[in-house]
Amino acid sequence: MLSGRLRAAVAGLAIAVLAGVTPAAAQAAFVKGSPSGGDPYFPKAGNGGYDVSRYNLNLRYQPSVNRLVGKATIRARAKKSLSRFDLDFRHLDIKGLSVHGKRARYARRGQELKITPRHGLRKGSRFDVRVHYHGHPRPVIDPDGSEDGWIPTDDGAFVAGEPQGAPSWFPCNDLLTDKAAYRIRVTVPKGKAAISNGELVKRIVHGRHKTFVWDEEAPMATYLATVTTGNFSVKQPRIDGIPSVVAIDPRESEAAATLARMPAMLKLFATRFGTYPFGTTGGTVDHAPNVGYALETQTRPIYDIAPDSRTVAHELAHQWFGDSVSLRRWHQIWLNEGFATWAEWSWVEHQGGDTTRQTFNRLYAKHGPNDRAFWDPPPADPGGPRNLFVTSIYARGGMALEALRQHVGTQTFFQILRDWARQHAYGNAGTKQFIDLAEADSGQDLGHFFHVWLYRPGKPRGWASSARSLPTDHRSGEGAGRPMAALDQLR
Ligand SMILES: [Zn+2]
Repeated sequence: MLSGRLRAAVAGLAIAVLAGVTPAAAQAAFVKGSPSGGDPYFPKAGNGGYDVSRYNLNLRYQPSVNRLVGKATIRARAKKSLSRFDLDFRHLDIKGLSVHGKRARYARRGQELKITPRHGLRKGSRFDVRVHYHGHPRPVIDPDGSEDGWIPTDDGAFVAGEPQGAPSWFPCNDLLTDKAAYRIRVTVPKGKAAISNGELVKRIVHGRHKTFVWDEEAPMATYLATVTTGNFSVKQPRIDGIPSVVAIDPRESEAAATLARMPAMLKLFATRFGTYPFGTTGGTVDHAPNVGYALETQTRPIYDIAPDSRTVAHELAHQWFGDSVSLRRWHQIWLNEGFATWAEWSWVEHQGGDTTRQTFNRLYAKHGPNDRAFWDPPPADPGGPRNLFVTSIYARGGMALEALRQHVGTQTFFQILRDWARQHAYGNAGTKQFIDLAEADSGQDLGHFFHVWLYRPGKPRGWASSARSLPTDHRSGEGAGRPMAALDQLR
């Protein structure tokens, strides 16, 4: 994600876990699935006890009245023998719900949709949940005050699910680690287009309506799904040899020139990060100026207004870092944003602008130790969901990677990035795994380095070598004990 705004701070939340054994003797072996996915930043998001393999969404949307009718089929596998399980689903009304084709009882509490199938689901068994729903979808207000999910616009909707908006338009297991394949079929009035993820399989005109059928077979986290709808000029060029869809709101037509640079970006990133991870690419440029951010929706980022080329580079870099390799938990967000920010700087360098080293030096010189709003919170410890998208996650996160490049050498640095993208492709990984990989690839103990850059509050100093093996700098009067070698980083 890339935001035009700054957002502020909040404390963490506790995990609420409800799990137990049903009292009925006949059901003794069956338990309730957890209503929590276990992420401390969003304890109600996600659920336990099953794993989704596919979402089949059949949607009909009427932009003039913001009315959505949906039929969702969710294919999942029970990880425990379940007497009951939860989905995440917000606000919309349910017309019918079945499990294995049989009507099932359900109850709703906040975003939890609690489903009791007629018969228990045995551990390891596959099951289909069908939910028929309708209503007027609305965005979710996040802890930092911003909106995500289904955001109505003057001609349709901007649909961006990070971090918790997916359940505003489809029932799901809204959990980073439960990726699935998607088929999304959307019917809209004939003049409109509905742009989703992956391959555009079909466009069917019937009477006054048009149906778009989209397939994304690569595993996708719920927050990366979209069906951004409105007036769009839709083109299907090949971008660096990859089939793509580029959709631009006519009011943002100047975006075409910027998006035309995607082949050069994808080429650059493929040489640095490894092969582009998905079968399709492109972008959707909406006219939604109130949204205030762009999002790296899988295969096809969405932009609220015509983006500059740095923003496009940022969202494309997320296809490797965020979409293919996804977080395990939200507090690891710097693995998305720091990486996309560094990639943005490398695109600037590639274009003949500042080198990544010059960008680092400029930021390091400009922001003194008292500029806590720039340096804090440290990237790997945001301190709460309200800080997920603040400046330090992006800028200091990107600087941490540039400091790493200078510390281990460019060749080793790119080896680390490529190994990261390859070893965790289509999966999930966290900060500790990144540190382990960087140490393995470089053959160095990087514990002190990463502690300084990722975890220690305040302006990073003295990361260049392990604190115990260096002479300390007592001359400046401040920060006694800090290694002199830190100053080398400024050259
Ligand atoms: Zn981003």
